[in-house]
Amino acid sequence: MKPVIIFITSILLVTHCATNHEIKPFEQTRIMMDTFVQISIYDQDKTIEELSSVIELAFKQIQNIERITNDYDDSSFISLINREAGERAIALDSVMYHLIVTSNNYNKISDGAFDITIGSVKQLWSFAQENPRIPGDVLIRQQLENVGHQNLLLENETIKFKLPGVRLDLGAIAKGYAVDAAIQVLRDHRISDAMVNAGGNLRAICSDLTTGKRRVWIKNPRKSDTFSGYFRMDEGSVATSGDYERFFVFDSVRYHHILDPKTGEPARNCVSVTIQAASATEADGLSTAVFVLGPERGMELVNRLPGVEAIIIFEQDGKLVWKASAELKKKFKKIT
Ligand code: ADP
Ligand code: MG
Repeated sequence: MKPVIIFITSILLVTHCATNHEIKPFEQTRIMMDTFVQISIYDQDKTIEELSSVIELAFKQIQNIERITNDYDDSSFISLINREAGERAIALDSVMYHLIVTSNNYNKISDGAFDITIGSVKQLWSFAQENPRIPGDVLIRQQLENVGHQNLLLENETIKFKLPGVRLDLGAIAKGYAVDAAIQVLRDHRISDAMVNAGGNLRAICSDLTTGKRRVWIKNPRKSDTFSGYFRMDEGSVATSGDYERFFVFDSVRYHHILDPKTGEPARNCVSVTIQAASATEADGLSTAVFVLGPERGMELVNRLPGVEAIIIFEQDGKLVWKASAELKKKFKKIT
């Protein structure tokens, strides 16, 4: 397992969403998917027992998805695929099929910047602050052979790797997908106002109870526990990818967990990318893709996608600067 404690404090505040009004939500927070997952329900009709049972079902759904997608768990489905898909075609369940097809699409539209076959290279790195590891160039070059969606054979809802060393890593999209799935469970149980936040990957649905009252806060990437600003959001999804979530510094260089599939090294062009989109899957996937693409090409991608907005923070001449897509520029209230 990765060291949970180090990044919990920072990751919780990467993207924080709060409502500011008299009705208290029915709310629980649990540690899942290697982060804090918070579910908040605003409801005036259901009993505490009913709300307890619905929230339990939503957390169960997240747990199901974690069991499938957690590559740190040897008994997960993704671990089985990583062990055996080099040898034989593995039949996919609906969650894994959906995640791989969606990831293929993000890989295509980001010109390879988003790549779930980054697993073989990521395994070489350790971003834990007390036990960091920088792999050598030769090792990275060897493993880069295994990176690229052309190495995935997806046929009749089965997957096979074209090279035995390919390793899938769904770390850039699984939390967003789990948030969407949890929201679906809440909706199926006639909850119309709620928020699910998995370590800064969040989705909100809204009724009259919270209209106009929800704010999404973006963390200042270089001053922990302070914020760069906020915007209002009734419904929708937000995710932030940052170079300050899991990182270590060696010889004044910051090494973090978002890797450029072309080099196998941490992507260097952004400090933090916040994406607003309809679904949490989209926000999560695109925040990683745009981070790797950088402020120019990343914003071009955002502008091509309907309903997708971004705030990109990056360094210019040693200073932090930000840019936002048209709609978020109007809404974003910068405070630092
Ligand atoms: P977080 O998981 O901290 O919210 P991201 O959503 O940006 O942040 O996902 C980063 C994770 O995605 C990494 O820890 C790694 O597992 C995986 N990853 C790293 N680089 C890439 C990439 N270029 N494409 C797809 N997944 C990546
Ligand atoms: Mg992501």
